[in-house]
Parts: sequence; structure tokens; C-alpha cells
Amino acid sequence: MTYVIVGAGPAGVVAAETICKLDPGGQVVMVGDEPDPPYSRMAIPYLLINNIDEQGTYLRKDPEHFENAIRHMHGFAESVDADAKTLHLTDGRKIDYESLLVATGSKPILPPVPGIDGERVTTCWTLEDARKIMATLKPGASVVLIGAGFIGCIILEALVSSGANLTVVEMGDRMVPRMLNEVSGELLRE
Ligand SMILES: Cc1cc2nc3c(=O)[nH]c(=O)nc-3n(C[C@H](O)[C@H](O)[C@H](O)COP(=O)(O)OP(=O)(O)OC[C@H]3O[C@@H](n4cnc5c(N)ncnc54)[C@H](O)[C@@H]3O)c2cc1C
Repeated sequence: MTYVIVGAGPAGVVAAETICKLDPGGQVVMVGDEPDPPYSRMAIPYLLINNIDEQGTYLRKDPEHFENAIRHMHGFAESVDADAKTLHLTDGRKIDYESLLVATGSKPILPPVPGIDGERVTTCWTLEDARKIMATLKPGASVVLIGAGFIGCIILEALVSSGANLTVVEMGDRMVPRMLNEVSGELLRE
């Protein structure tokens, strides 16, 4: 059976490996649009403070891991012809499948703030974002972090420990407002 997975993040990778175990004779093709080998976004804070290098973020360290039972293809899935069971990529390639899994994850929301698309503004979601942050993150650099949610608070410590002069802007009345109550949100702020 040919399985195609769109998205090469943790969900796509674990699904691919699980399918290989359940159907050892099957073929698994994983299509991802990011240029890097599958990596863990969770490791980005450690990368920001140079605790690890980029390879340390990779989900699987063996470079041949995605060359045998699981084939990792770089490309962006544009459309699915469900009747023909074909996935179309933006570069014109098409991949036939018997079973298709969509594991395309999510993207950070950019609030409708004028200027948010400026040069020195970035999200912190991808390895590419991390590279941009690391290029400007220096001791004494003034950094404004919009959003004190779960991800914001995870990278907050990395930003501070690299010596940045950090200001956090949060529209809720406390830190991590969707996960913490007032008492714990206040403790974290302190
Ligand atoms: C800095 C940071 C720290 C985090 N720390 C934690 C933590 O400590 N604990 C925790 O539980 N979670 C953490 N997370 C969240 C965690 O990383 C995500 O929940 C996880 O990455 C989701 O995995 P996923 O495979 O579903 O999606 P993703 O990781 O988003 O992967 C989906 C992939 O699909 C690709 N894709 C999308 N559309 C297409 C398309 N049309 N064609 C081809 N490819 C496509 C995307 O580019 C992406 O590479 C953190 C996230 C960040 C950014």
C-alpha cells in the first residue's frame, strides 16, 4: 500500500514510523515544504541559547532515516484529487496514493498590527525564524515579545539568558492566560 503524508513535522514523522511498523511492506512518502530535515520546534529555545546546534533539533539524527522505508520529499501540496487519489504539488509533480494523511500543523497568528510585516519583526515558529532571531539577538539588544502564551513563555527564558533587554506585551490580564489562573500567572510574571 502507498501512504502519502503531507507535513514533515513531529505528527507526520511519528505517523510515518508507525505506519512502517504496522505495514512493513508499505511505501510511505512524506511531503514537507520546509527545507530542513524534520526537526522539533520544541528544541528552538535551546538553539537560541546555543545549547545545541541545528542538528540537535533534528527529530531523527541518522541522515539515512528518511531514505529507506520512509521517503521524505520536499514540496508544497497544492491540491488533492480525491477521485483519482493523487496529490498535486505546486511545482507540478503529482504523487499517487492509496491512503493520504494530512499532518500540516499550524502557523502563528499575526495580529492585524500595522508594520508587523517589517524587517526586524519575526515569529518564532520555524528554524528559519530561529536563524533570524539569532542573527540579531545580542547582549543588550532591545527585544519586544508580543504574546505571553505558552510558546512566548518558553522562548522568554532563552531571550533573557542571551542578555537581551526584554519587554513582554500581553493583551490578557496575566501571563499564559489560557493555561494559568490569576495566582499562577502572577507568580510567573514575578
Ligand atoms: C519555540 C517552540 C517551542 C515549543 N515547545 C513545545 C513544548 O515544550 N511542548 C509541546 O508540547 N509543544 C511545544 N511546541 C509546539 C510543538 O512544536 C507543536 O505542537 C508541534 O510542532 C506540532 O507538530 P505537527 O507535526 O502537528 O505540526 P508542525 O510542527 O507545524 O509540522 C507541520 C509541517 O507541515 C508543513 N506543511 C504545512 N502545509 C503544507 C503543505 N501544504 N505542503 C507541505 N508541507 C506543509 C509545515 O511547514 C510543517 O513543516 C513548541 C513550539 C515552538 C515554536
